[in-house]
Amino acid sequence: MKKRIMDLGYNSFEDLNLNSAKSIRVEPELDFSLLINPLGNPFDQPDSGLDFSKATKNASQRLTQYPDNRYSEFRDSVASFFENTILPEQVVPGNGSCELVKLVFECTVNEGDKVVIVQPATKLFEKYCNIHGAETMHIMEDEIQDIDPSDIQDAKVMFLSNPSDVSGKLVEENVLKKLSEICIQTNTLLFVNESCIDFADESASLISITRSNNNLFVLRSLDTMFAIPGIRVGFGVTSPEMAVKLNSARLSWNLGVVSEKVAISLMRRDDLSKNYLAKTRKYISENQEYLVDRLSKIRKFRVLPGDSHYVLVDISASSIGSTELTHRLLDAGIKVKDCSNLYSMGQDFIRVSVRSKEATDNLVREIGIAVVDSARDKAMEKLETSLLSPEFSAIGPNKTCPYYPCHFQGQDCTFCFCPFYPCGNERTGGKWVERSSGGKVWSCEGCNIVHLPDVAKKLVCELRVDSPMEEKLKKTWKKVVEPLL
Ligand code: SF4
Repeated sequence: MKKRIMDLGYNSFEDLNLNSAKSIRVEPELDFSLLINPLGNPFDQPDSGLDFSKATKNASQRLTQYPDNRYSEFRDSVASFFENTILPEQVVPGNGSCELVKLVFECTVNEGDKVVIVQPATKLFEKYCNIHGAETMHIMEDEIQDIDPSDIQDAKVMFLSNPSDVSGKLVEENVLKKLSEICIQTNTLLFVNESCIDFADESASLISITRSNNNLFVLRSLDTMFAIPGIRVGFGVTSPEMAVKLNSARLSWNLGVVSEKVAISLMRRDDLSKNYLAKTRKYISENQEYLVDRLSKIRKFRVLPGDSHYVLVDISASSIGSTELTHRLLDAGIKVKDCSNLYSMGQDFIRVSVRSKEATDNLVREIGIAVVDSARDKAMEKLETSLLSPEFSAIGPNKTCPYYPCHFQGQDCTFCFCPFYPCGNERTGGKWVERSSGGKVWSCEGCNIVHLPDVAKKLVCELRVDSPMEEKLKKTWKKVVEPLL
């Protein structure tokens, strides 16, 4: 085994580890993490006019035959989908987009070669840089308009998603065209992943300039366009010369007859499939604004502007990290994209795809619950640890806190997060209020009890008792708080 494959290790591919907790696949009720067509696949939509059984009927008659490895019918159908602005000879079929990324790496990158990745980007490009021992250079999407040929001199390939499959941002056409020119100059292959472009702005596509450009490879994914990731079909469009080489090097028979037939039915009936994509864009425009508006109303959440059917949300100012938030939401049956394993993202970002208004309401409500639960759990953990130390006592006013005084001058801040939260007892002065992001939340604004210096001292004293937290909270509430109500 090559050393660098040995070095990959399981943590790179957590989801392949049969022993990992995640190996039991949990289908969330609501999945906001996917980039596939939010309307689902057209075969499920009676009015789409596209019929899966008809599409696969022919395939079942050919199960005993090897597919035609030239895939001429498939490549013709792709060319017709683009109204013959490209030639079938320019098309490279792929068993999903992953296989085409792998193929391009195998054909262009040697160990030590320089590869440029425009960030933020999902992990796939980096995975193959590791596998091929490439020298990876990361350029942030906001820097590409200032790229100079000397910046990417000697780079074999530059990988860019348009729109970005993380931020959803589209690269301006003139910037992209300039980049393509620079890549010709430096003899770098510009690999543009346009898997989500149909949901953003197809006119920004570079497909129309591939025929005469040996330094350009444009990737499209039927899995994403038509929400059929189970079928695994993608294709690349490049110059006829490049396509000959890549098709010679690709896996033989990389598309099965079923995938091929389904793909051809979608590409051939471009009237129906384009109607479906237009319907999808309408659905996105009807629901995107609502998603942005609702997420923006969550305290300390900042939605970054994007151009496609998903948004990047900056949660760096909130008290919860992206992995914890993602896990808590998954426990509630909702999946969002945790961006923590992506380049330069840390625990500060989640990506959320457009879904229906009702689904968005559920998401926002569960985020609100997750943030409060996380703060309470952290406060309880901190309190439990503090109570173990004999020196621990009521701390009095915390004047260094930017929110001091959140209740009254001279308040005690030991129980910044009340251990009884949410007590739900309105005699305290607390009450249920409408959350800015919708739903109800318990507000302690009107309650001073745990901030009264003498009460805080008594609470510390009572909670120091060596018994399970839940039990002693009940006892302490009865002994210290109840008499004050
Ligand atoms: S209302 Fe008062 S006692 Fe109840 S959870 Fe809030 S701070 Fe604690």
